Amino acid sequence: MRQITFDKFIAWIKKNYKILSAIFTVFMLIVFYFYILALDNNHLAHTHVMYIAIVFAGGILGGVYGFVTAIIAGILVGPLMPYDLVTGDAQLFSDWFFRLVMMVIVGLMSGYFSKNYRYVNERIETLMTVNTESSLYNINYLKEIPFDLEKNYMIMSMIISNHQTICDIAGYKTYYNYLQILEEKFLKFDTKSVVIHPQLNKIWLIVLCERYEDQIEQISKLIKGINHVDAYKFFVDFGLGFHQIRIEQHQEVSSYFTNTDIAANEALEKHILYTKFKNVETRKKYEYELLSEFEESLKTNQIFLVYQPKIDLKTRKPIGLEALVRWYHPIKKMIYPDDFIPAIEQTSLVHIMTEEIFRKALKFHQDLKEKGIEIPISINISTKNLYDMSFYKNMISIFRTFDISPHMVKLEVTETVLMEKPELSKSILEKFAKFGFKIVIDDFGKGYSSLAYLAQFPIHTIKIDKFFTSQILISQTTQAIVRATIALALQLGYEVLIEGIEDKETADLLESYGCHTAQGYYFMRPEKEITITNYLIANYK
Ligand code: C2E
Ligand code: CA
Ligand code: CA
Repeated sequence: MRQITFDKFIAWIKKNYKILSAIFTVFMLIVFYFYILALDNNHLAHTHVMYIAIVFAGGILGGVYGFVTAIIAGILVGPLMPYDLVTGDAQLFSDWFFRLVMMVIVGLMSGYFSKNYRYVNERIETLMTVNTESSLYNINYLKEIPFDLEKNYMIMSMIISNHQTICDIAGYKTYYNYLQILEEKFLKFDTKSVVIHPQLNKIWLIVLCERYEDQIEQISKLIKGINHVDAYKFFVDFGLGFHQIRIEQHQEVSSYFTNTDIAANEALEKHILYTKFKNVETRKKYEYELLSEFEESLKTNQIFLVYQPKIDLKTRKPIGLEALVRWYHPIKKMIYPDDFIPAIEQTSLVHIMTEEIFRKALKFHQDLKEKGIEIPISINISTKNLYDMSFYKNMISIFRTFDISPHMVKLEVTETVLMEKPELSKSILEKFAKFGFKIVIDDFGKGYSSLAYLAQFPIHTIKIDKFFTSQILISQTTQAIVRATIALALQLGYEVLIEGIEDKETADLLESYGCHTAQGYYFMRPEKEITITNYLIANYK
C-alpha cells in the first residue's frame, strides 16, 4: 500500500517536473537573494551562490530558462543589491553588468549542454531498443516493459518462411513496410499490445488478456488481411505460435518466446496457420492418457466418424464422402484428429484404429445403400499402416463381411508414404488397386514429390492440398501452380480433387481450371451420419 502511494508520488513528480522546477528556481532566487543580503560582508563574494539556480534552470528547463534566470539573478545581485550594506553605496555598473553577462553565458551554456546530453541519451536509448531498419522495437525493449506480475499475457510468435523471397523480389523496404503495417494493425487491435521485431523473419506480439483462445482467430484474420504493400501484391508464408504466460519476477521475458517459436515452426511444418504451445511434459502426459484410453473408446461410441461430401464442380452435386474421425471424450470433450492421431501413429494402435474406422465407414455405406444411395466412400490411411504386412489382409477380411463393390472404396494416403518407403508402399497399394479400391493422393503439393514420380504408383485421384486453396485468390503464383498441376494431372489421366474450398469465387475459379471435384466448408462441413443421410436423400442423383 505504502509502495503504491510512493510510486504514485514519483509518477506525479515526473509528470509535473517542469512547473515544479520553475517554482523551485524562483524559490532559490529569493532565498539566495536574502542569504547574500544577510551574510555578505566580503564585497559580494556570496553572489556566486546564484549560479546554482542558473545552472539548475538551464540544465533542467533549457537555455531560455537559464537565460531568464541569469538576467533575474544578475539584476537581483546587481542594481538591487548595494555594494556596502552599511553605507548603502551602489555597485559600479561595470562590475554588476560584467557579472550579469557571465551569468547569462553560464545559463545559456548549461541549457545547450544539457539539451545535447539529453538528445544523445535519447538517441542511444532508441538505438538500443529499436530495430533501425524496420523502426519496430527490438528484443532489448522487453526489459523496458512494466509487466504486471499478477496478470495473464498472450504471447505470439510469427515466423515468416519466405521473407528472403519477398526481400529479393519486392525489396527490403517493402518488406519493412509490411512489418510496419502489421504493427499498426496489432496496435489498432489492442492499443496496449507490444510488437517486437527480434529477427528479420520473426515478429513477437504481447497482449494482456485473460483467455487468449478468443483472440487467436481475430489475430490470424488480421494478418491474413494484409496482402499488398506499396505497389506489390505478395504472398506471405507464415506460421503462428501462441502461448499464455504469467511473467515471473526474475525470468528473462525473451525466454518465454522459445516456446512460441517452436509452436510457430511446427505450424509452418504442418502447413497450418497456428499451433498452441503445450509444454513437452504436459503434452507427453496428455498423449499417454489418450493412448491408455483409446482402445476402450473405440469399443464405445466415443470414437465416431463424420463425413464431408465431395462435390462435382460442374453439377455442384455430391459424388462421394470422406470419413473423418472424431473422439468425443467424456472429460476432454471433442478431440480432433490432429490432436490424437500423431500419438496413436507412434504405436501399433494405429492398425486397430484404421481397421475400426474402415468398419464404421463401410457400415455407413451399407446403411445408405439400403436407403437407395450408393455413394463412394473414402477413408484416410495412416502412413504407418502401409508398413505393416498384415494390413492388406486385415482390411480385405473386414471388407468381405459387407456386401459392397470394391470400386466404391477409396483410400487416401499422403505423399510422404510414397517418399519414405516407396517399394513397400507400392506393393501394398498395387494389391489394393488390383482388388478394386481406388487410391487417392491426399495433401498433394505439401510434400515434394512430382507428378512424374507418382506415375509409378497405382493412383486414381490427386487431391490438391487445402493450403493452396487458401492462397489462390490472393496469390498469382499459387494460381499458376494450381493451374499447371491440374492441367498436368488431367493429362496423366488422374481425377483431380481440390480440398478446402470456403467460398464461391474459389469454387468457380477451380472449375474454370478444369478441376473435377472439390471439398470444403463452402459446400458442407464434415457432419454426423444423420445430417449426411438427410442431405444425400435430398441431393444425391
Ligand atoms: P485431411 O485428410 O486433409 O482432411 C481434411 C481436413 O480439412 C479435415 O480436418 C476437414 O475437417 C478439414 N476441412 C474440410 N473442409 C475444409 C475447408 O473448407 N477449410 C478448412 N480450413 N478445412 C477444411 P480434420 O477432420 O480435423 O482432419 C485433419 C486430418 O486428420 C486429416 O486431414 C487427416 O490427415 C487426419 N484424419 C482425419 N480422419 C482420419 C482418419 O480416420 N484416419 C486417419 N489416419 N487420419 C485421419
Ligand atoms: Ca483426407
Ligand atoms: Ca487433405
